[in-house]
Parts: sequence; structure tokens; C-alpha cells
Amino acid sequence: MIITIIGTGYVGLVTGVCLSEFGFHVTCVDNNPDKVALLKDNISPIYEPGLEQMMRLNAEADRLKFEGDVSQCVPDCDVVFLAVGTPSIAGGEDIDLSYVFSAVDDIAPHLTDGTVVIVKCTVVPGTCERVRQQIAKLRPDLDFSVVSNPEFLREGSAIQDFMRPDRVVIGVHDERGREVAEALYRPLKLQDTPISTTSLAGAELSKYASNAFLAMKVSFINSIADLCEKVEANIIEVSEIIGLDQRIGDKFLRAGPGFGGSCFPKDTRALAAFGRSVGTDQPLVEATISFNEDRKNKMAERVLETIGDPEGKTVAVLGIAFKPDTDDIRESPALPLVELLIKNGVEVRAFDPKAMEPAAKLYPQVVWADDPYEAAIGAHAVVIMTEWNVLRALELERLRDGMAEPLMIDLRNIHRRKEPARYGFTYVSIGRDPAS
Ligand code: NAD
Repeated sequence: MIITIIGTGYVGLVTGVCLSEFGFHVTCVDNNPDKVALLKDNISPIYEPGLEQMMRLNAEADRLKFEGDVSQCVPDCDVVFLAVGTPSIAGGEDIDLSYVFSAVDDIAPHLTDGTVVIVKCTVVPGTCERVRQQIAKLRPDLDFSVVSNPEFLREGSAIQDFMRPDRVVIGVHDERGREVAEALYRPLKLQDTPISTTSLAGAELSKYASNAFLAMKVSFINSIADLCEKVEANIIEVSEIIGLDQRIGDKFLRAGPGFGGSCFPKDTRALAAFGRSVGTDQPLVEATISFNEDRKNKMAERVLETIGDPEGKTVAVLGIAFKPDTDDIRESPALPLVELLIKNGVEVRAFDPKAMEPAAKLYPQVVWADDPYEAAIGAHAVVIMTEWNVLRALELERLRDGMAEPLMIDLRNIHRRKEPARYGFTYVSIGRDPAS
């Protein structure tokens, strides 16, 4: 099977590399020429553990190619994946489908009879049907199929998630679409991955429902963490106890500064907006969105209150990415914190193992350090925003020695409560401190 992937972001590139690893011949296309140039040199434009190495091996084996021009590969292929971004519309809640439909316009003139177009993007129910109608309008005589195949991978463990997913979802409109999509995922079926086949809209909705449920779980535990602070209970113990109930499960029950990233915020907004548009409001999802926005701001305010008078203060922010093992900073809770600190005249120093390049473009006034110890020099507080392993294993004595004041605000609860105090730190964390 010959495959083209449109879009080489986190999903498109990982999908392309993993499908070439299965043995398929894959061409990944992006309309950003800088990305294509890097990819042709076997350099991944995104950080994802193990990706660049797997990419290089498959490119050397001649199974993986990169292109900037769809006309070079779409006419010869059996399957075209659409893996372009579906962000929120600027300043709004609805999903911006312009990248999807512009990619459809790009590929339509080059499609040949029998090609299956697979939508990997997260899109609101009804979009794949609109994609089908748009192609039919542009190419009335073309015999083609459209499949919805939402992706569930997580940044930071994307290859493992693609190769060993909990399930694969295939939304189909016709028999050929089903057969081709099932053939693509046969290597996963052989390892007993559940493959769920449903309608186009069923697949589209399943993806939103999964993400909204996980986002709700995160907001739920964050609101319980607030209660812990009022009654002197420890959120880590409470989470463990809840998670031991197999009906609930222990994942996504870690209290923190609120969820961010390129998926949960925009997908919850899109689901809520979609619900409103069809007259079926989603009050639980709406509450999750507003709670999470408040949470990010409240956590930033908590840092500001904890450092006291901001005049002449320096704060070291450790971790900017929305989660570890990624360079993605989209809607990261670290961003409102950095903004609030800057707005209040605080000097911000910061470190992140992988996300400093995109973050430095946003905040040139921040002093970007090579490691956490350099970031902490002269700081009146360090704030842990991302649970990177390197921040779990900090040499606390070394960190403290460089600081102006030994204050650690750990918004990820990665340190044991008494440990930083042993090194003279005032330690503030989440859901473990009495009414702070
Ligand atoms: P991304 O923004 O990282 O990448 C999108 C890529 O598409 C960019 O490189 C862009 O240049 C390219 N592009 C846009 N229009 C194009 C066109 N017409 N032709 C060629 N290239 C084009 O996006 P992403 O994070 O990979 O997400 C892609 C989709 O997958 C979204 O719908 C997202 O919601 C969904 N998703 C993302 C994740 C994740 O963890 N990032 C997980 C599951 C699902």
C-alpha cells in the first residue's frame, strides 16, 4: 500500500514514520518548506522520544520520503491521510477547519480512482461527511472513499502509543474504506489491539468524548486538591485511594496547575461549542473549561502572592512545556504564570529541557538558562511547572546555594513534602498545605 500523509506535525509525522516502520511506502507532505527541508535532512522539526532515529532508519530503507508538493505523490497513492492542525478559531471556541478544507482542495485535483482519504485530525461530527461532499463536488466523476480515524497518541510517548494503542477507531462510510483502513492496521490487530469500526460521526465523537472525559478527570482532582488544602488532607493519598477503585482507574488523577497542550483545551472548547450548535449543551464540559482557565490563573496568582512584594524579585520557572518529554508549549499553564510575573515587574529566569526555543520566541525578555541551577541563580523562588525527570532529581543543596531566598513552589507535587525542607527550603505544593 502506498501512503501520503498531509501535515508533518506531532500526529502526521509520527503516523508516517510508524506506518513506514510497518513496511508501507509513505510520503509525508508539509506546506511549510522549512519543515520539509529539515525532514529531507533526516532532522525532526518536533521533539518526540525515538522519532528521529526511527525516521532515519525508514528513510534509509527507502520506505519514507518527504515532499512539499502534493502533485508529486498523491496521484500514485492508495491512501491519503489528512493530519493537519484543527486549532480553535482565533479568540473563539469553535474549531477552525480551514486547514482541513484547504488540504482537501490541495489533494482533490490529484486523487485517482479507488483512493481512500483518511481523516486523522480531531474534527467535530459531520466534518468527514463534509470532506466527502467537498471532494465529490470538486471531482464529480472520482470513485473514492472517506474514513475517519482519530488519533489518540500522547506527545512524549507518541511512538509507543501509535505502535501499542489501547484501541484503533475506524469510522466508515463504505465497504472499501473499511477494508483499506483495516488492512492498514492489520499489524496492530495481530497484536490483539481492539479495532472499533463505527460510523464517520461515531468515530469523530468518540475522540472528543475521550478527551473531554480525561480533561474532566484532571479538573475534578484539581478541585479536590483545593478541598484538601482546607481540611489538611493530602491530595496524593486521596488520589491514590480514588485511583485504586478499578471503576475509576489511577490515570489523570494527579493534581497540578491545570491542563494545557494542543488537545484538551481546544477539544473541550470544540465539543462544548458543537453541543450548543446542535441544541444539546454539555454543562460538564463547559464547567471543565471554565474551571481549568481559572485554575491556571489562580496558580499563577498563588505564585505571585507567595513571593510577596514583587519589587526587585527574581523567579526561576522550571519547565515550560505543557507536559514532560515534549517541546510543545501550546496553552501550557506555564505561560500565564510567566506573563503575570513579567506584568508585575518580576525578573523571570527559566529552564526547560526541550521547549526553550519556542518559548524564547514568545518571551524574549526572560533569561533562558542551560540548566535548572543556572536558572535559579539569584532567584527569590523556583517554581516547578512541568514534571520533567531532571526536575524530580534536583540536587537541592546546589539549587539552594545559588538562590537569593530558598523558596520552592512545586505546582506538580514532584517532591516529597519534607525533602526540600531538609535543605532549608520553604516548600509550597498543591493540595498538601493547610489553607495556603
Ligand atoms: P500540528 O499543528 O503540530 O501540525 C500540523 C502540520 O500540518 C503543520 O506542520 C502544518 O505546516 C501542516 N499543514 C497545514 N496545512 C497543510 C496543508 N494544506 N498541506 C500540508 N501541510 C499542512 O498538528 P498536530 O498536533 O499534529 O495535530 C494534527 C491533528 O491531530 C489535529 O486535529 C489534532 O487535534 C489531532 N491530534 C493531535 C494530538 C497531539 O498530541 N498533538 C493527538 C491526537 C490528535
